[in-house]
Amino acid sequence: MKTLCILSAFALVGTCATTKYTTKIQNIKDGIQIVDSTLVVNYLKTITSQELKKELYEFSSDTYEGRETGEKGQKLAAQFLKDYYIKENIASPFGEAMYYQIIPESFFSNNIKASENVLAYIEGSEKPNELIIISAHLDHLGKDDIGNIYHGADDNGSGTVAIMEIAQAFNQAKKEGHGPKRSILFLHLTGEEIGTRGSLYYIQNPAFPLENTIANLNIDMIGRVDNIHVNNKNYVYLIGADRLSQELHYLSEKVNNAFCHINLDYRYNAENDENHYYFRSDHYNFASQGIPVIFYFNGEHKDYHKITDTPDKIDYQLLENRTRLIFATAWQLANQSHTLLVDKKNELLLN
Ligand SMILES: [Zn+2]
Repeated sequence: MKTLCILSAFALVGTCATTKYTTKIQNIKDGIQIVDSTLVVNYLKTITSQELKKELYEFSSDTYEGRETGEKGQKLAAQFLKDYYIKENIASPFGEAMYYQIIPESFFSNNIKASENVLAYIEGSEKPNELIIISAHLDHLGKDDIGNIYHGADDNGSGTVAIMEIAQAFNQAKKEGHGPKRSILFLHLTGEEIGTRGSLYYIQNPAFPLENTIANLNIDMIGRVDNIHVNNKNYVYLIGADRLSQELHYLSEKVNNAFCHINLDYRYNAENDENHYYFRSDHYNFASQGIPVIFYFNGEHKDYHKITDTPDKIDYQLLENRTRLIFATAWQLANQSHTLLVDKKNELLLN
């Protein structure tokens, strides 16, 4: 009888604690109100598979020689991005035509030459000091021993052209009087394939204070389908969203339910995931600074890090929808009334 009593008491405490946490989570969910639905739908439509395809065929062409960090092809890729932002009339955070953050040779090892991150920027209309960073690496593996080019169409041409289209959509909105309330940095990173060096350099030399950087949405490979999803290709892996901010996780889900209806696959977000993707691309450098991140990823496939990662194998419809999801998530982060909260400062979780 006594034993049973103790067990019941434990059971009660357990139930009680669980209910309380559930309520906290519900309060976080309820606190997220989707903003500007009509506008978001309008500008989502400016992100098209045709434009993504056109840019990606160029960016992964032979001209850029596999975009190896510090080499001629990578520099041409950086120039291509800079020219794009000039043509689109999207500013640099460093002032006129200064789109490069130059990383000196001394920052690298193994005789890697100086290289550059490419930065473009739209200043927020109401809270310009608060910043959302949308990032993707621009570099890839260069050429193999006999001169074959690693085109890296998926890795990470797909993420690169996604950012170009997202920047264009935000800029179009701004021109029509609907610019983001918070600032957005479009950050094309170099040196990812040699150990996320471009993002490491950025966090050590940030263009804007890291304490005002409220989130990082990082894109690395979103144009293909992996073996797990051959029969269910309307998916994308999301990694990291709930690690630092429960609000970011639920905000991302709400945005997806409102606009994109993609199956968000969280299997690689598991703490015990043996692939350790959370630690393997540029977003982790931001997470290490306490900045909430979402990593968007289609998983590995047979052409991953092979010379056969070419633009004809990209599913442009999928790339379009995934890009739209990232745009809509960034819109919500930039325009919702309250600033995204990290868990350790979120009173809805603490009380
Ligand atoms: Zn990559």
